Amino acid sequence: MKQSFRYGMLVTAALVSSIALAPDVFAQDAAGKDWPTPAGSVNGQRYSTLNQINAQNAGKLQVAWTFSTGVLRGHEGQPLVVGDTMFLDTPFPNTVFALDLAHDGKILWKYEPKQDPNVIPVMCCDTVNRGVAYGDGKIFLHQADTTLVALDAKTGKVAWSVKTADSSKGATGTDAPLVVKDKVYVGVSGGEFGVRGWFAAYNVADGKEVWRGYSMGPDSDTLIVPGKTTDLGKAVAADSSVTSWQGDQWKIGGGATWGWKSYDPKTNLIFYGSGNPSTWNPSQRPGDNKYSMTIWARDADTGAVKWLYQMTPHDQWDYDGVNEMVLTDQKIDGQDRRLLVHFDRNGFGYTLDRDTGALLVAQKFDPAVNWATKIDLDPKSPTYGRPELDEKYAPGHNGQDVNSTNICPAALGSKDEQPSAFSPQTGLFYVPTNHVCMDYEPFRVSYTAGQPYVGATLAMYPPKGDTNMGNFIAWDATKGKIVWSDPEQFSAWGGALATAGDVVFYGTLEGYLKAVDAKTGKLLYKFKTPSGIIGNVMTYEHDGRQFVAVLSGVGGWAGIGLAAGLTDPHAGLGAVGGYAALNQYTSLGGALTVFALPQN
Ligand code: CA
Repeated sequence: MKQSFRYGMLVTAALVSSIALAPDVFAQDAAGKDWPTPAGSVNGQRYSTLNQINAQNAGKLQVAWTFSTGVLRGHEGQPLVVGDTMFLDTPFPNTVFALDLAHDGKILWKYEPKQDPNVIPVMCCDTVNRGVAYGDGKIFLHQADTTLVALDAKTGKVAWSVKTADSSKGATGTDAPLVVKDKVYVGVSGGEFGVRGWFAAYNVADGKEVWRGYSMGPDSDTLIVPGKTTDLGKAVAADSSVTSWQGDQWKIGGGATWGWKSYDPKTNLIFYGSGNPSTWNPSQRPGDNKYSMTIWARDADTGAVKWLYQMTPHDQWDYDGVNEMVLTDQKIDGQDRRLLVHFDRNGFGYTLDRDTGALLVAQKFDPAVNWATKIDLDPKSPTYGRPELDEKYAPGHNGQDVNSTNICPAALGSKDEQPSAFSPQTGLFYVPTNHVCMDYEPFRVSYTAGQPYVGATLAMYPPKGDTNMGNFIAWDATKGKIVWSDPEQFSAWGGALATAGDVVFYGTLEGYLKAVDAKTGKLLYKFKTPSGIIGNVMTYEHDGRQFVAVLSGVGGWAGIGLAAGLTDPHAGLGAVGGYAALNQYTSLGGALTVFALPQN
């Protein structure tokens, strides 16, 4: 069978030519007929120029075809579409399928890695994987056991494979790689196992490691260039990471990097975030714990750090900073700005200048957030960029073994990894959020390689007086304001899609695929898929027809009780109790559901 990869080649060509043709690169980088990269385009916008499905006709959507993945646990990623082929992968054992779009998803090939099941207990928050990447005629998968494998996109045959880390020490692969030009970028999971996080580039041609930058350690490990790398505009001093820790704790210091990555062709910078410092007991790690909880801007070719910004110094809540970095060109106060927008677990929506790392906006995107009153936005202040804490919501401020209660948000954040979408048409972000608070009691824990290194007991519940555990919101990142907000019974843990038809899509934990009006948030369509949705909605065009697709399969951190069969309310780091009612709405099962308008 002849397969076409012409769109993929066009995308690559467009990217190359757009480097020469900047500044209009982002219009070219929105997804169109294909969905060739996890976020649709390398700027992370999850926006498609397709507009057959629009706010007037979305109510007529129907299911076109479905596909069972044969795997039961949480499906957190999204399919890719390149030409006539769809590629998707599953949670452990990370089976990859190539499906023929000309025949309702007939299987063209299937890749089933052989992995040691001993990796399952060292995956903190279900056995999820956030998707594959495409480039150079290959599909890239970061397996649970930290094997990075390149598959021939036409045949599924292994082109090369490398180990990125040691899963026996608690390092796992759950992230979606990102391909830019001749390199594939990956990060690592294991912040709950004392893994020292890193971010690395490999050659797409042969799997050779090009560079690796650690989240913490000496400058030679982090690839920070003292005197040159900036932190909120100021050059950083030598070994600024090591000096922010006590003793050797940085060696087991966390800062995992399992979130989304984005890329700016104009500056050749790659952006991502790092997660919590280890352990979760803050008394065991005095200092700012740099550079956990940090936004990183690295040179894509060398890994050298251009700028960074630590959002939550000395984290006391597990507010991992790994969520998506969305690159937009928007006006602030009438001035054209090149922005990076990030919705952090800590409940603040940050807007930065992506060339300099200057902090422009930082506001709460859930009014319930109480751990900090505000972020200091005065560039002249000695605490510029730092949160102003409310001590009663800061676990560990009065020692370990003390329970702090009613902290908002909970550890899984006002938003976790479920990615937002941006529409250049409305200028708004569409953000699936959690509306959850917690109790947090830190206790002393000792480090054993490959064993959980957490040291905290948690309980989770909705904010006082509320019954909804989530909201799907529209956000103006130039002002730091919620424009509209749709409540959800459970967290909105499925990633959003924005389209030129002014329709926005997202999935819910009970299993609904929802389409809402981009301008008002009005519900246009909903359909209950076979299981809860923690995957991300995408769209593509085949044979002149627009399709919308999403993976369902409940699980992830919020759904860990269902996924792993846990009932102790404190299990799953407190999520099992918080989301206990979910089992009245849905059950396990991985399935793809593809939607389209009826053919006349
Ligand atoms: Ca974490």
